[in-house]
Amino acid sequence: MHDRTAPVALTLLLTLAAPVRAQHAEIDREVDRLTAHITDIRRQIHEHPELGNRETETAALVADHLRELGFDDIRTGVAHTGVVAVLRGGKPGPVVAVRADMDALPVTEETDLPFRSTVRSTYLGQEVGVMHACGHDVHTAVQLGVASILKSLQDELPGTVVFLFQPAEEGPPPDEEGGAALMLDEGAFANPRPEAVFGLHASAQLPVGQVAYTPGGALAAVDHFRVTIQGQQSHGAAPHLGVDPVVMAAQVVSTLQTIRSRNLSPLAPSVVTVGMIRGGTRFNIIPDAVSLEGTVRTYDPAVQDIVERRMREILDGVTRAGGGSFALEYDRITPVTINDLDLTSRSVPSLVAAVGADNVPVADPWMAGEDFSLFANEVPGFFYMLGTLAPGTTSGDHHSPTFRADDTAVPVGMRTMAYTLWDYLTAAAAAP
Ligand SMILES: [Zn+2]
Ligand SMILES: [Zn+2]
Repeated sequence: MHDRTAPVALTLLLTLAAPVRAQHAEIDREVDRLTAHITDIRRQIHEHPELGNRETETAALVADHLRELGFDDIRTGVAHTGVVAVLRGGKPGPVVAVRADMDALPVTEETDLPFRSTVRSTYLGQEVGVMHACGHDVHTAVQLGVASILKSLQDELPGTVVFLFQPAEEGPPPDEEGGAALMLDEGAFANPRPEAVFGLHASAQLPVGQVAYTPGGALAAVDHFRVTIQGQQSHGAAPHLGVDPVVMAAQVVSTLQTIRSRNLSPLAPSVVTVGMIRGGTRFNIIPDAVSLEGTVRTYDPAVQDIVERRMREILDGVTRAGGGSFALEYDRITPVTINDLDLTSRSVPSLVAAVGADNVPVADPWMAGEDFSLFANEVPGFFYMLGTLAPGTTSGDHHSPTFRADDTAVPVGMRTMAYTLWDYLTAAAAAP
């Protein structure tokens, strides 16, 4: 990894050495000044988590903080609870956007953190605990920190930064719209329009002090499919008088796995998972239908097309052979999150300057999905992982009750993102 990052870092340091180092020193001073306060905010958000499209207190905290800083261009209620704030620097330069997500998950927290959540709510008709089990509390706090830093350096800022505080990244509740798609629909990128977008995500696998990135496809495209396999009901003792959807479903589940193993290159990462299967009412009745539901994860739209096409062909072949029929609903939920290669090579030197080349590994793609991808489909995007695992502690995985993002990641997030935005604007403003 050092071979890939060091030469780029060197180039930037040689061309922009003196001014960049001076600006970085100013950012460092601001990070030191703000860390205790922003850490408090992080704890406050963690203790009061809110589900997607319900982030009213979090959004109010964000907007209040930005107003106190002196931001004068703040839009609230974007995509229900989102906040968009624009900071225009004192020097000419381009427009960039930076995004943090604010929503928590229906998970009951089981950590021993002094600021752990005891909040309960209802989700899909069930009473649930609510927890920042994906680290979005860290993202929101870090971005408030970055807003504070850049606001205090506003006179020298060469360009404009659009701060996006986004609701419902994990997906809006059923029958509601939300998240990045709705923010874009409601003009998050309209006025002013950014030429690049940046974001970060906590990583429970990565130690505090490190940031990791994946050039190109970084997080998977998320698809959701629902299948009904239609047969004909009959007595369990007289299968020849009906059409058995259970047998067809069993064949479909097995054969779907041949898409991965026989239709795609072994080097094309993908997952086909049937997560739910339902059918039948009694042991001696062959039911009339069986339903399957699952997810597909891919990194390449061409691979995504093959999976969907083969899924239809397999369903068609198996159900024809069995004498039944099928219906398939195939929804592409979020596209693959792509780190633009040019923007990545421009941004990595800033990460290296912030934490050192040894602490900027290249990461494998992550099979999770991110609706940051929708912003990054509009303009080039760069999305990196922020290590939140403190030495001597353990963390459950993302979305688990024992997920634990350490506070000490907050200043690392502030420093790396502030450097990244500042350096991009400086270089773009200086370019002919
Ligand atoms: Zn998540
Ligand atoms: Zn997340």
